[in-house]
Amino acid sequence: MQQQLTEEAKKELEKQQYRVVGKHSAVKVCGWTKKMIKGEGGCYKLKFYGIMSNQCMQMSTSISCANRCTFCWRGYKAPVGKEWEWDVDEPEDILKGSLHAHKKLLDGFGGHPSANKGAYEASKTVRHVALSLTGEPITYPKMNALLKRFNQEHISTFIVTNAQYPEAIRDLEPITQLYISVDAPNKALLKDIDVPLFSDYWERLNKSLEYLAQKKERTCIRLTLIKDQNMCDMEGYVALIEKGDPDFLEVKGYMYVGASQQRLTYANMPMHEEVVVFSQELVKLLPDYDIVSEHIPSRVVMFAKKTFQKADGWYTWIDFPKFHELVLSGKEFTSYDYLRKTPQVGISGKGTTEHNAMIKEKREKKKEFFVNEMTDELEFWKE
Ligand code: SF4
Repeated sequence: MQQQLTEEAKKELEKQQYRVVGKHSAVKVCGWTKKMIKGEGGCYKLKFYGIMSNQCMQMSTSISCANRCTFCWRGYKAPVGKEWEWDVDEPEDILKGSLHAHKKLLDGFGGHPSANKGAYEASKTVRHVALSLTGEPITYPKMNALLKRFNQEHISTFIVTNAQYPEAIRDLEPITQLYISVDAPNKALLKDIDVPLFSDYWERLNKSLEYLAQKKERTCIRLTLIKDQNMCDMEGYVALIEKGDPDFLEVKGYMYVGASQQRLTYANMPMHEEVVVFSQELVKLLPDYDIVSEHIPSRVVMFAKKTFQKADGWYTWIDFPKFHELVLSGKEFTSYDYLRKTPQVGISGKGTTEHNAMIKEKREKKKEFFVNEMTDELEFWKE
């Protein structure tokens, strides 16, 4: 029998500022999109890759997922399943419906006193879609047709997958940047952290990494560090990273937000400084990579293959017009064909220390204060 989102579940999602699109997709305005419109800076993907946060739409083509990750902000009532169990909406309807819902959600910013007029006007033209909001987007059976439509609209695409559907990764058409989440360094820990539905979850992750390594376009592996749980077994991480052979690596701290608070504790959230120390240890074991940049509010460090460094600096930003030209040409291309120079690189020790001193102080004062403060971080943490 086909799954249906109950009216109650839909209402609950809408209460959390989601908009359900059709039968299985959802949109929600990212906290960074709002911040950028208010002139308060962009997300780490602006700093690392050149994504304009005010022109980004965050969505998923599947509300359902095959894992119950402990660190996920989703509650255990959120739909789960191994196979696709929904009626299939048409790509055109998802494209139009999600753009419409996104724009409506942003409407309120038009007359908002803190909105930057230029940034708000630009936000009406979506230029990027982050397919990573909730659930596992890659299971949508017509994903390639939807990607084609985004390409035709000159909207770049990032997909984040939990690596439980290797064949879907293998069969995916070129996208702007493809992510795999590697949530643990070994089989036993992956079971504890991801609580997968599939019994062959480890084989699925490894197969997915093999397929990732075969991709020609930009690829990235994301680690989510949970203090006292998966900040260990460096060799395990190295083996998985080498298997996936990504262009980029993001090492990001877990955020104590949403329903994850029922499963983990505040102490499981590493400080940025700890993410940096872990990254510095990890990079020593990855001779093909270097640390390029960090985003302190997001507690994330970005690595790139050394081949992305030219004589005049790092090239990790995306040349979007070039990407669209290449993808629409139908010809083969690689990650190196649509690069731009990264304007700001390096790890700022000063910023790190100040930031952590501030966080420590908050930590001592009142946990709730910090959690409220970090609500917006949920938006990029969850990807
Ligand atoms: S964090 Fe992700 S969803 Fe939010 S603006 Fe950046 S790329 Fe878009």
